[in-house]
Amino acid sequence: MLDKQNSGKLFQSAKKVIPGGVNSPVRAFGSVGGTPVFVKSGDGAEIADEDGNKYIDYVMSWGPLILGHCHPQVIEVLEDTIKKGTSFGAPTALEEELARFIVKRIKSIDKLRLVNSGTEATMTAIRLARAYTDRPLIIKLEGCYHGHSDGFLTQAGSGMMTSGMPASPGIPEDITALTIGAPYNSSEAILSIFRKHGEDVAAVIAEPIAANMGVIPPVDGYLQTLRDVTADFDTVLIFDEVISGFRVAFGGAQELYEIEPDLTCFGKIIGGGLPVGAIGGRAEIMDLLAPEGSVYQAGTLSGNPLAVSAGLATLKFLDEKNPYIQLDETTELLEMAMTDNLKEAGIEGIIQRVGSIMTLFFTKNEVRNFDDAKKTDTKLYRKYFHGMLDKGIYLAPSAFEAMFISTAHTTAHIERTIEAQREVFKGI
Ligand SMILES: *Cc1c(COP(=O)(O)O)cnc(C)c1O
Repeated sequence: MLDKQNSGKLFQSAKKVIPGGVNSPVRAFGSVGGTPVFVKSGDGAEIADEDGNKYIDYVMSWGPLILGHCHPQVIEVLEDTIKKGTSFGAPTALEEELARFIVKRIKSIDKLRLVNSGTEATMTAIRLARAYTDRPLIIKLEGCYHGHSDGFLTQAGSGMMTSGMPASPGIPEDITALTIGAPYNSSEAILSIFRKHGEDVAAVIAEPIAANMGVIPPVDGYLQTLRDVTADFDTVLIFDEVISGFRVAFGGAQELYEIEPDLTCFGKIIGGGLPVGAIGGRAEIMDLLAPEGSVYQAGTLSGNPLAVSAGLATLKFLDEKNPYIQLDETTELLEMAMTDNLKEAGIEGIIQRVGSIMTLFFTKNEVRNFDDAKKTDTKLYRKYFHGMLDKGIYLAPSAFEAMFISTAHTTAHIERTIEAQREVFKGI
């Protein structure tokens, strides 16, 4: 067993001053039990905790760290930028450079607004869609997660799913009534909702690759259905690429599947490990934002030079080095070996993967939507999670999250992970 004395003490003490001891619920290990690891430092693909334990990290800050912890190029620009001042509340050349970079590389994006988180990005995208269409309703896909703003917290993935919360108190019914849920991957369901409510639907918001109920790729034709039906009804199609953007390809899922949304939300990788989010899309819609238009949105720290320089360094690296084939190969190696491990141990499991994000679901059948995901064996995941943690492998403390593989994960890391898993499976 790991020595987690210091983490344990910190957790007890944090609980007295921070609700639940953490600043984002899933960090508390609620669904897997035990004491959360208090992280002291990270380096490449590894982290160290407050008790001196080391782990191979497959959470990677939940996605932003596609280049690993403390990538030299990111650290270098941060050191450089910090000396020139940390925030101005005035425009900087860095913001122009980041926006221009993305507009040039991603076809669906004419203009981009920077914010501080994925939550802010999706919140603003919805406001824009409602203003553009002058309609009230939004369609959200069950099990997708779009941050924690009021209209998105029904049948949401991520932490809410992990803790089994169908909805959150504190949100007036008048607001939840404006969100219509639709099962992921069902073209029939979305068409039927449009037949009934189409004229009132401002936006469909979708994770083009669902990654907050575990990784669930879109079935053939599904994204095209979303594109077609929204075009037919003059509804805004929003792709929430907070995870998939710059992850499955530089241009995200929209590049991979060749479907252009009207608006795109970014987060995570776009900040290179610092807080950045963004909304981008067609000029006609984006120009509704103040001060060009009258849809209000603002932020004291938006476009913060430190955050933007880390994001820009990360995106430049991804663009220049194009590590996506390498990421895919590394992750495939892990996937294949894990499949062998499952077979050898006689454990029912299925691995779903797109590029460098993947999930091992403890179940027999393919997982295609929220209901399928909820039926997987979370008790078994709990045992698996702690077994792996004890062997120095840091997985997400939830059965409904992705593993994130970075360019810092080497074949040696993968081999150690596979060996650890083989042993853990033996004991299950
Ligand atoms: C993480 C995430 C968000 C929320 O981003 P925050 O920066 O945590 O507010 C929104 N959408 C998706 C798809 C995400 O994975």
